[in-house]
Amino acid sequence: MLKVVFHEGYLARYPTGAVETPARIRSIMGNIKGRYEVITPEPAATEDLLRAHTPDHLVQVQLEGKAVREAAALAAGGALCAARLAASAGHPVFAAVRPPGHHAGRNRFGGFCFFNNMAVAVLALLDNGAFSRAAVIDFDMHRGDGTAEIFAGDSRVALLDVSSAEKNHFIEKIEDFLEALPTVDIIGVSAGFDMHLKDWGGLLTNRDYHRIGRAVADAARKKAAGRVFAVLEGGYMPHDLGKAVLAFCVGLEGKDLLEPTHMARS
Ligand SMILES: [Zn+2]
Repeated sequence: MLKVVFHEGYLARYPTGAVETPARIRSIMGNIKGRYEVITPEPAATEDLLRAHTPDHLVQVQLEGKAVREAAALAAGGALCAARLAASAGHPVFAAVRPPGHHAGRNRFGGFCFFNNMAVAVLALLDNGAFSRAAVIDFDMHRGDGTAEIFAGDSRVALLDVSSAEKNHFIEKIEDFLEALPTVDIIGVSAGFDMHLKDWGGLLTNRDYHRIGRAVADAARKKAAGRVFAVLEGGYMPHDLGKAVLAFCVGLEGKDLLEPTHMARS
């Protein structure tokens, strides 16, 4: 059974881009309420953040103000919680966090991202010694430049950033990567939904997000002992975001999309 990581703090208002709103998370929770067990995370500790970021970066985020610093630490903590749950229990986990993280590099932030949630989560598992290899798939429409920078030269992490794929090969690129993937200890997914038909990218339907979830679930079962977690990145049209996330989560559970047509179509 899939679990969802959520904290009331993800509904907080803090200074950021106008489109990165609490309504995004309300849409997701509204769609998955009652379906999945919800787990409440703790904020990431300083030592967790320092695996992905420089001490100076932590100071820079601090200077953005208390609201930003608290929200960012809580989002990183949510990703960490999801990764640890997936690692120990072996069932899929979706972390419905904001702010997103994949544009945050070791020593810089931007693009609505402050701490790199995915990097904080994966590095915690790798550095504790139990896990030695991870795969990270980023299907946001924007390049996860922060994640790429943090994992550059780290042979423990196989990273796929789909944003460079031609539009009609978007899903195929994910499937090809999963097909070629060697055995890993865990798969992390930077799940951005801004490639949605009704979002900025204007490409993927809810059925497509279900297909991606399903492909990742299959690969996780075959190559990662079923260990997989996903962390929300982009997706800026609250009306459609929740449905897309639900379709992805149903796929991640390895289940068919047996929903009314309003959800199956986008
Ligand atoms: Zn994006």
